[in-house]
Amino acid sequence: MFQEPISSTYTDLTEEQTRDRIRGLKKELGDKVVILGHHYQRDEIIEHADYRGDSYKLAKDAASHPSAEFIVFCGVHFMAESADILTPETQKVILPNLAAGCSMADMANNFQVRSAWKQLGETLGAIEGKIIPVTYINSAANLKAFVGEHGGTVCTSTNAPKAVKWALEKGEKVLFFPDQHLGRNTCANLGIDPETEMALWDPFKPLGGNTPEKLAQSKAILWKGHCSVHQRFTVDQIRKAREEHPGIKILVHPECPIEVVRESDLFGSTEYIINQVKAAPAGSVWGIGTEINLVSRLAKEHPEQTIVCLDPQICPCSTMYRIHPSYLLWSLDRIAAGEPANIIEVPQAIKEPALVALKQMLEL
Ligand code: SF4
Repeated sequence: MFQEPISSTYTDLTEEQTRDRIRGLKKELGDKVVILGHHYQRDEIIEHADYRGDSYKLAKDAASHPSAEFIVFCGVHFMAESADILTPETQKVILPNLAAGCSMADMANNFQVRSAWKQLGETLGAIEGKIIPVTYINSAANLKAFVGEHGGTVCTSTNAPKAVKWALEKGEKVLFFPDQHLGRNTCANLGIDPETEMALWDPFKPLGGNTPEKLAQSKAILWKGHCSVHQRFTVDQIRKAREEHPGIKILVHPECPIEVVRESDLFGSTEYIINQVKAAPAGSVWGIGTEINLVSRLAKEHPEQTIVCLDPQICPCSTMYRIHPSYLLWSLDRIAAGEPANIIEVPQAIKEPALVALKQMLEL
């Protein structure tokens, strides 16, 4: 699916005109539409969201509104897919701009993961029930389906520790994709040695670039994927922040590299980061390592605290940024005209096993 160009009747509007028209359409459409806004969306989108949250919370919010005919998901493609899997058939999930993907999710595709599984089987013998696949929710629906077919689970950055623990109790090894950093941080926190008990799987190399011995001795096989936003954070940035702001607390997302997580005071999911700031007393000073729209919003919402982003180059998620208010307006206009566009529909053959993996996550 490609994004059709939207006309200048949308792109030529001023910010104020766009805002007024979105508000007008929301009023006109009423309960027929629910707008979801991921925390990393810009403020001009978040102001129109009925719910804001991380990808998992938003998928659940969508499912809790079965009466809404349309879920307009202001996030990225894999999130809209998860919402479609978790919502009833009668509901349509819309992604306002089809170009809003996730570079991390794109680092593992169905062909590569199935090829890795085959190579692991050829190298290590019977692996069903011994290697448990765990996919981060930031992955395509067909990878969630793969995990459902092979007795694994989906995880979020919040429940990754539970998911990996569960996988290692059920089997002998975990194959974790697509984010190596979330996998490494989670496994290290569970006592698995990154040097001797983890292997990195490069999908462009035979055996992922490993020897059979390395794969045999590893408890965790981590896919070589990363988030382009969170991989930018460095230990030097943390040291500089500590010099500039004595008493600062460093709070980072587990998609950051392990050395950054180790140098931080606290690490956790987007919701965890928000809750830490919410619970902190006035006068607290935070250096945060996550997407800039969220950090800036936290700073605005908590003027009683000092909140700075660790990355001086302030890095937005470029794909999230593709949900411009003009696209939201266009999507609502199409719904109002009875011609909804950009409906995300996961095929039934993928939906069923993907739902198995998502339900497994809910049971963790
Ligand atoms: S912040 Fe990273 S993981 Fe999240 S959508 Fe953007 S590229 Fe993907």
